[in-house]
Amino acid sequence: MQPSLTNSDYDYIISGAGCAGISLLLHILQEPELQGKRILLIDSTDKISNDHTWCYWEEKSGFLENLVHHQWNSLVFHSDKETISLKIAPYSYKMIRSIDLYAYAQNVTLKRSKVTWKKATVTGLGNENGLAFVVANGVKYTAEYVFNSIMLEKTKLAFEKDNCYKLLQHFKGWVIETKEPVFDAGEATFMDFRVGQELGATFVYVLPVSANKALVEYTFFNEKLLDRSAYDTLLKDYLKQYWNLDDYTITETEYGVIPMTNHRFEVNDGNVINMGTAGGWTKASSGFTFQFIQKKTIAITQALVKEKSPIIKKKLSDRIFDLYDATLLNVLVNKKMTGRDVFYYLFSKQKATTILKFLDNETSLAEDLKILSSVPTSIFLPAALKELFSRGKK
Ligand SMILES: Cc1cc2nc3c(=O)[nH]c(=O)nc-3n(C[C@H](O)[C@H](O)[C@H](O)COP(=O)(O)OP(=O)(O)OC[C@H]3O[C@@H](n4cnc5c(N)ncnc54)[C@H](O)[C@@H]3O)c2cc1C
Repeated sequence: MQPSLTNSDYDYIISGAGCAGISLLLHILQEPELQGKRILLIDSTDKISNDHTWCYWEEKSGFLENLVHHQWNSLVFHSDKETISLKIAPYSYKMIRSIDLYAYAQNVTLKRSKVTWKKATVTGLGNENGLAFVVANGVKYTAEYVFNSIMLEKTKLAFEKDNCYKLLQHFKGWVIETKEPVFDAGEATFMDFRVGQELGATFVYVLPVSANKALVEYTFFNEKLLDRSAYDTLLKDYLKQYWNLDDYTITETEYGVIPMTNHRFEVNDGNVINMGTAGGWTKASSGFTFQFIQKKTIAITQALVKEKSPIIKKKLSDRIFDLYDATLLNVLVNKKMTGRDVFYYLFSKQKATTILKFLDNETSLAEDLKILSSVPTSIFLPAALKELFSRGKK
């Protein structure tokens, strides 16, 4: 049983109203048992711009189905060796624009008198007298639990000091519109590895939402960001070389950096519970986070409904997937094999659906072994053993 706290300002504070914060809020608001909870949401921005485009896959209609901007039932993978059509049924690959999630959440919040949305900068988090607290714009707010998705200095410092892998997935994308119809809105390019690999694993993805409009993102897995203008040149060259396009309008741009790391982010500090990328929910080998956020915020919500602790510790199966992720980082960082070849081995030898399930950390051990048998054992086994025996020393 959770203690009944009457002297806190709120029942829950959600620190950071991005993907994890808003997802948690929406899951909580769905639960009849949690209707009376006093919730404070804090973010330093107004959340009125489309700062993220989230893609993920799922089998059926999901919780956020009404916000899906576009979805594809067919994906394609290009390497320098061949082009592979990926059959992903029963999955669909879906896109949500962050602005739609923010607007939806703001609208829902307006109708809830117990939910307060505050624009303020969080500078401190902690525990005091049995309550968790947040300091924002110099004011301290208390709650039974703080759910935090903000990387404050303490988290950044622990990450910097850790002798862990620190690859970055960095990308810049353009939404382009063409006069002529050139895209197939039913098929997305999941990864196009035909581009130069001099700077590490490098690929482009192309997400057409109509015959005339697509989001095209140039992506790297390496340690060094490029000047923003360098991505522009690469995008321009890619569109010319592979799509024969030089006449288009850029209507939006997106830039992002996602950590690809085996750092063990702190799960919680007392009743301050970390979430999202700040909670280590980003998959180290792919950067995908969106579906992990959904699964984990559902788990937190269910714990709250049952009046159990919402601190969700990793299970053994999570640790096994962490080991697979660290193994891939080991291979990439130490340049034992190129990312292009690793993904080619996987997509050319295994069913796309099994790989998507694997990337969701949902495969069985038998399926894992099948996947692992696709990549050269002489490279991956020593890397896996090294990661297995160095765990805990980090
Ligand atoms: C551009 C981009 C595209 C991505 N696309 C995908 C994708 O397609 N699929 C996928 O699975 N993953 C994707 N990711 C990875 C991941 O899903 C996102 O980063 C996701 O937004 C992480 O959610 P979060 O809540 O942890 O962080 P965020 O969504 O970044 O939320 C953190 C919030 O904290 C606020 N904040 C920060 N500092 C403070 C402060 N001091 N005080 C108050 N508020 C503060 C920010 O304004 C923000 O709203 C993408 C990442 C980026 C950067």
